[in-house]
Amino acid sequence: MNQSISIELARRDSMWKELLETADPNKVEPQTLRKLRFFSGQAGIYRDSKNTQRYTKDNAGIAVSLLHTGRHYSDEISESEIIYHYPETSRSGLTDSNEIQSVKNAAIYNLPIFVISDVGKMRKVQIGKVVSWDDATSTFLVELNPLNFLAHPNEIDHLDDEPFVPKAPRLPSRTATVGNRAGQPAFKFNVFKRYGACCVVCDMRVLPLLQAAHIIPKKSDGTDDPRNGLVLCGNHHLAYDSGLFSFEPVSTRIHVSAKTTKDEIQLTRSDLRHLNKLPHIDALQWRWRQWSVDQREDE
Ligand SMILES: [Zn+2]
Repeated sequence: MNQSISIELARRDSMWKELLETADPNKVEPQTLRKLRFFSGQAGIYRDSKNTQRYTKDNAGIAVSLLHTGRHYSDEISESEIIYHYPETSRSGLTDSNEIQSVKNAAIYNLPIFVISDVGKMRKVQIGKVVSWDDATSTFLVELNPLNFLAHPNEIDHLDDEPFVPKAPRLPSRTATVGNRAGQPAFKFNVFKRYGACCVVCDMRVLPLLQAAHIIPKKSDGTDDPRNGLVLCGNHHLAYDSGLFSFEPVSTRIHVSAKTTKDEIQLTRSDLRHLNKLPHIDALQWRWRQWSVDQREDE
């Protein structure tokens, strides 16, 4: 880390210490956050350009905080991570792109940011780490209360060189009250980043209707590795999980159950060869074997 960045890291450390001395971070008055320079009052990304612009060549500065207003899909926030959408406002284009770049810079310079959420009239503040971003879906993945800052951002981009472990049994979720198990937003982010925001069997592109599906299902301990995932629209996710179709592992050709037809369930693709990156063959193989057994039982 170069010297000047360590000054900014120390500044964020002392901001956090000062906050803990002043208030409960789960319930802070907005004006306290403004006074301590956590944010300046407007929605979205706060980059405190006066303090952070000097560190970056691109003039964008380094984001200090993200204000999360709760207008998220339910599968985009858990106790351990959040999918944060790029701002899209009517302000000048440069403001938005500088703000987006400032969040990327937090990842590039490996600096913590503060994630602020509304709790009635009060605010909750958590420490966050920008893990990755995806320009195609205009989203950031931010880890909340991260255990370490040393792991390299965007490590997911080199995933295909890593061994694939299809099953990942996990401890019972501690996030029952939040309504989402930890890991789900990260899984969704990573699957969308890998395959693009488009149903792989019908080309539907309407973001709120798209879901990240597990190939080896969670209930069979399927891993959250994105190579065990596919982007499907809500209908085709349901159809896939009901066994109405499956993918032949080598050719990736779609086979439809004897109960229905390709036209009836509106599949427009015949295989997955249009994708830039494919799911892992071990995951497809596992699902295909299960599906083939179920098909024979149905006969
Ligand atoms: Zn679809």
